[in-house]
Amino acid sequence: MFFNNPHKILEQCSLVYSFLDFVQIDTQSDPNSATTPSTQKQFDLQKLLEKKLEALGCVDIKLDDKAYLYATFPGNAPKAKVIGLMAHVDTAPDFCGTDVKPIVHNSYNGSPIILPEKDVVIDPSENEELEKCIRDSIITASGDTLLGADDKAGIAVILSALEILGNDDSISRPTLRIAFTPDEEIGRGALDFDVEGFGAYCAYTLDGGFAGEVNFETFSADKAEVTFTGVAVHPGFAKGKLVNALRYLGKFLDVLPNEESPESTEGRQGFFHPVNVKGNASEASAELILRDFDDDILAERGARLRQLASDIATSEPRLKTEVKITRQYRNMAGVLSEHPKVRDFLLQAVADAGIQPNDNPVRGGTDGSGLSAKGLPTPNIFAGGINFHGPREWISTRVMAQSVCTVLNLVQRWAEDGQ
Ligand SMILES: [Zn+2]
Repeated sequence: MFFNNPHKILEQCSLVYSFLDFVQIDTQSDPNSATTPSTQKQFDLQKLLEKKLEALGCVDIKLDDKAYLYATFPGNAPKAKVIGLMAHVDTAPDFCGTDVKPIVHNSYNGSPIILPEKDVVIDPSENEELEKCIRDSIITASGDTLLGADDKAGIAVILSALEILGNDDSISRPTLRIAFTPDEEIGRGALDFDVEGFGAYCAYTLDGGFAGEVNFETFSADKAEVTFTGVAVHPGFAKGKLVNALRYLGKFLDVLPNEESPESTEGRQGFFHPVNVKGNASEASAELILRDFDDDILAERGARLRQLASDIATSEPRLKTEVKITRQYRNMAGVLSEHPKVRDFLLQAVADAGIQPNDNPVRGGTDGSGLSAKGLPTPNIFAGGINFHGPREWISTRVMAQSVCTVLNLVQRWAEDGQ
């Protein structure tokens, strides 16, 4: 039974009501916090979700002290593999996430959407997806906060899929493991995730953008710290003696290739990107992030960085240099290629929903990159939101419902597998 009618889905489940509820609960994470979760308020939503999962028929519900919520939705296809569905509860720290007042713009007519606060305008000329959403209901915030469709749309989509499955046992499904995680927006979502306890063959995050978007690839990422140590002398007596580390650090930053920076790359191109500098005449260092989709080219980037630093040092023998490179995360494509059905079933599920799949490499990391590296292959599925992390964030309820269709088609593919 394929699901390809989002309007019917909107009548069958509480998708929109749940979403409007969730976005009003402040769950912003905080990169400056050392605790897990980074903010206690993420528990506010988790406690509500704990109750919702129970009401939907989930068992083995567990909310741990780090704000990871796990549950099992029993299947009806005993030979099928256990499959995971995931979303994150936190919203981005980039913009205000407190007091979100969602607005539903019914039957969108194609003109610019003007939000009541701070003259914020969502302009169709800058949002090509809007013209594909004429007559849809569009949900926005009110102008002075983000909306939080990232990732409360993903949570609402998963719960709605469970609601529909729970009401119709004729839809075949594997046992589903559900997880709602904290702190994804600050890159910590996979850190304390219990892969073994989760016990799924693979999982899918519902954390992507517009209809059809699926992600099987992320950047591979390393961090580099380059330190120059000079010779500090009182400037009044420095002639022929001072070796100013700051000047050499400046030269080093200057020789980084401009054409390999984030601001001049796109698509599958990688980059060098200085993110922080500190120091004084005696010692100065820069922190950089290195990114590429190809692990070998990423390693080459590290080697080139070392070469650039040592070239600077060659010009001044009294200068010492040190380059430290640490691994951050790896492209999940490598792990996914060992499990072709994880990708194939998703592409089929999107097509079965009547949507053209749009397979985009992510120029960043996702929870899926961390989880795939920990042994749980985890691609990402669209949940509908656009303009994440800012006041112009918006979502079409029809596209959210198409995400529910995709999940329902996907679980049936896995249920049929091996029967
Ligand atoms: Zn997200």
